[in-house]
Amino acid sequence: MSLKDANRINLPESEIPRQWYNLRADMKEQPDPYLNPAMRPAKAEDFFPIFAEELARQEFSTERFIEIPDEILEIYKMYRPSPLIRARQLERALKTPAKIYFKYEGNNTSGSHKLNSAVPQVYYNKKQGITNLTTETGAGQWGTALAVAANYYEVPLTVYMVKISAEQKPYRKAIMETFGAKVLKSPSDTTEAGRGILAADPNNRGSLGTAISEAVEAAVTTPNSRYVLGSVLNQVLLHQSVIGLEAQKQLEMVDEYPDIIIGCAGGGSNLGGLIAPFMRDKLSGKANPEIIAVEPTACPSFTRGRYAYDFCDTGKITPLAKMYTLGCGFIPSSIHAGGLRYHGMSPILSKLYHDGYLSARAVYQTGVFEAAVFFAKYETILPAPESAHAIRAAMDEAIRCRKSGEAKTILFGLSGHGNFDLAAYMEYNMKKIVDYAPSDEELERGFAGLPDVK
Ligand SMILES: *Cc1c(COP(=O)(O)O)cnc(C)c1O
Repeated sequence: MSLKDANRINLPESEIPRQWYNLRADMKEQPDPYLNPAMRPAKAEDFFPIFAEELARQEFSTERFIEIPDEILEIYKMYRPSPLIRARQLERALKTPAKIYFKYEGNNTSGSHKLNSAVPQVYYNKKQGITNLTTETGAGQWGTALAVAANYYEVPLTVYMVKISAEQKPYRKAIMETFGAKVLKSPSDTTEAGRGILAADPNNRGSLGTAISEAVEAAVTTPNSRYVLGSVLNQVLLHQSVIGLEAQKQLEMVDEYPDIIIGCAGGGSNLGGLIAPFMRDKLSGKANPEIIAVEPTACPSFTRGRYAYDFCDTGKITPLAKMYTLGCGFIPSSIHAGGLRYHGMSPILSKLYHDGYLSARAVYQTGVFEAAVFFAKYETILPAPESAHAIRAAMDEAIRCRKSGEAKTILFGLSGHGNFDLAAYMEYNMKKIVDYAPSDEELERGFAGLPDVK
């Protein structure tokens, strides 16, 4: 059997990327700089109290390739290269002439791509002698990934988990604790930020923005402690570039190049990682793939947000980033794709979107779960609700190809599995999933809170 007939295009371990690729090196224009609390362009040193120094430097780097240390490769090799899979059964079921490939990042205990950045973030902190890490987690994937990495490098970890997610996903909390992490429901009474939010609204069920405020506050008020963030940041997109670098090699093995690349977008890290080398080709004019970000209608940062300076957290204690945002006070409805409930978007992807290098669309939850179950039945992988946003769009594109007769090559990112999302699937099976989109008035309230940056 030739490789072209294969379902799984596996890359040998020896082909694992040795360097991360930094998309910023090839951007025609850089994202606008972060602003520090004094509203001046921030420097790497401004981030030293929050992030490990090496990570702060990566945040500002425009170097094209950054070496992956051996101590990190050691862990990557336990679950990478991840498979690229041709979704033949799905193609057949959809009767599409399109070829559908997906890059699957769910093949590790944390169940998502998040481990790709959790490992380097813990590593650089450990190397600097940091003895305590804090973070937030929404759906639980980031907290789980970080718990795995923190346990491996033996660094104590406190996770502020969005309350609604902790209630929907008790097993996520259990797995983090199994790897030795301390898990607190956010908003909690352990920080000023959390106490303030609870005083205003005792029934507040939390959001990523709030949990970030708590984790950052805990990091800066605890000695020798630092904060780690699983998405949005330039350093995270850098680490996630391993996804795209591998996918590009795997497609080369079967003489393919994608016409369309699709990923779900919460803070933008799995999409940013998947598209990195393809965007490089697009920026240099070598190729022109269509790139589509898919977000929930309930949290439409790209499709209905503003491109403006905003805080990365609800408590307004982080530096400001220029990004597509719904306002840091915007709390999206409690949809099941918890990892897509962030008010902002990666500054790198925001800039590329603003400059017309990628498009975005928002999809409703019910359509997402329909796609998730359809995909699961044909491809045997139960997808994370977040990832199923990408599946929805990939299926829609494949159906469009059926109608137009075009045999396009579609690549989408399957960022994680849904084995911890069974409460969501139960609701879907009972036909209890409801669609939600904020009204213009709700969005205006979020925009009204945007900081006034001259
Ligand atoms: C966290 C998460 C996302 C969303 O985060 P991005 O930074 O936008 O990738 C998507 N899919 C899965 C499975 C996740 O865990």
